[in-house]
Amino acid sequence: MTRNLLPLVLAAAFIPSCAAPNEVATSEAAALSHWGHTISFMFDDGYAGVLDARTVLSSHGFNRATAYIITDEVGQTTPLPRMDWPDIASLALGGWEVGSHTVHHQDLAASSPWNIPPGSASPNCADHVTRTMQSELLCSREALRSYGFSPFGFAFPHGVYDADSMRIASSYYVYARSFWDPSDARSSDYNPAERWCNDFPYNRQAIRVIRVYYCDTVDSVWARICQAFYGNGNTTCAGPRPSGDRWVPLVFHDIYPQGTTPAGCTTTALSQPGLDNNCGCPGSPDHAYSWRTDQLDQLAGRIQNLMTANPGMYDVAAAIDVFGTPSSGTAFTQRGVEQNTQPQMDFATSSYSPYVAGPGTTLSRDTAHGVFPTQTSIRIQNDPSAVRYLHSQYITVTPGTYYIAEATIDVGSLTSGVAGFYVDEYSDPYGTNWSSGWDICPAGGCVTNTSIVTYNHVYWPSPGAHSVRLQVYLNYGNSPIFVDNVSLRQL
Ligand SMILES: [Zn+2]
Repeated sequence: MTRNLLPLVLAAAFIPSCAAPNEVATSEAAALSHWGHTISFMFDDGYAGVLDARTVLSSHGFNRATAYIITDEVGQTTPLPRMDWPDIASLALGGWEVGSHTVHHQDLAASSPWNIPPGSASPNCADHVTRTMQSELLCSREALRSYGFSPFGFAFPHGVYDADSMRIASSYYVYARSFWDPSDARSSDYNPAERWCNDFPYNRQAIRVIRVYYCDTVDSVWARICQAFYGNGNTTCAGPRPSGDRWVPLVFHDIYPQGTTPAGCTTTALSQPGLDNNCGCPGSPDHAYSWRTDQLDQLAGRIQNLMTANPGMYDVAAAIDVFGTPSSGTAFTQRGVEQNTQPQMDFATSSYSPYVAGPGTTLSRDTAHGVFPTQTSIRIQNDPSAVRYLHSQYITVTPGTYYIAEATIDVGSLTSGVAGFYVDEYSDPYGTNWSSGWDICPAGGCVTNTSIVTYNHVYWPSPGAHSVRLQVYLNYGNSPIFVDNVSLRQL
């Protein structure tokens, strides 16, 4: 069910890189470690071979991978057999995370050849024929819920998304994953200058991954993992590992038995693999994304020597979240180390209190551009000739303590001007004496050309700081922006 449509992905250019100028220094990052270096295994499309993958991973003590399910294809037998609902339930009962991969594996980009429209915000999920972004995203979640699962994660089919589908996905799921793989030389996302990992704190709306295909060898995947964790061209994971939290999610699809060759595939991996020739499976594009049990076994063995933790995607993506109780009534798993200093504001029931408009700034409550768990947000009216912003009330902080400052901003159709996130520091509790500020965005300003971005930042107060205000700004913007899930949390 997979095919190669990667160029549609809105890629890395607009995401703050691993190396924001005010990123926490290495020694300080080590002190903040949550997971340290970690790897997550995930399996798209719900193939029956995932059950074999579970057996392999379990033999290495890894019992918390993630399966993304195409809800209307559960139990199908062609072209490749899929798990049925009891199979998926057995994964979840064994500790796996179950996420959504849409209803029909529909491309979620209006610019794709399928030309899928956004659709109604309240689709009829009993209609299994209509395919809109809304119905594919929401109805798959509802189907999973109806079988007792709690899907907080979403994987875009074919890794393809656009601004509309990214916005809609973010309103239904805690995190969303595409095929953003800067380590894959076959991909349009390839970027050797970029770190091939996610650095803490993670951006849940745009998670980097390493994709594994039929034409990948154990060594080729291992080399990319080692480079992600060690850097400096280290492809063998030899020597002392750098400190800090780095996360490498691995994307797999079907897993087929050792000693067999899938129909339509060459018997040996290509020496010069490429997606255009279906990665060595010209007769079966579905198999181009498969890997063997013995390969997975070897890779898991090497990973086991590197680390013992094997969190699911949600475990890591939400590690810094304190959302409270979602509408489904299921309590979120929390890491237990965070204290929500600034309450998570979802703006669902009030206007936008306790957030305050800056001078000349018009705020209003919006009901269609928020992110999980509700679609409500604060709208900052644009002004092409002025600086506009909102800020929180004063929050007492303690020097020597680490915090996470976070805001999710939908920059909508902004094409000129700059949107960003800022922490104002004051040397007194009442904000009389502004002492310094922390811009969460990279040098040159925050991004303007994507739909949704979650800004996370490790913040530690300057000596003498007594209070802060969180600020989201829109400088000289030509369209409104929408602010949601603003928080400051003690680490
Ligand atoms: Zn897929």
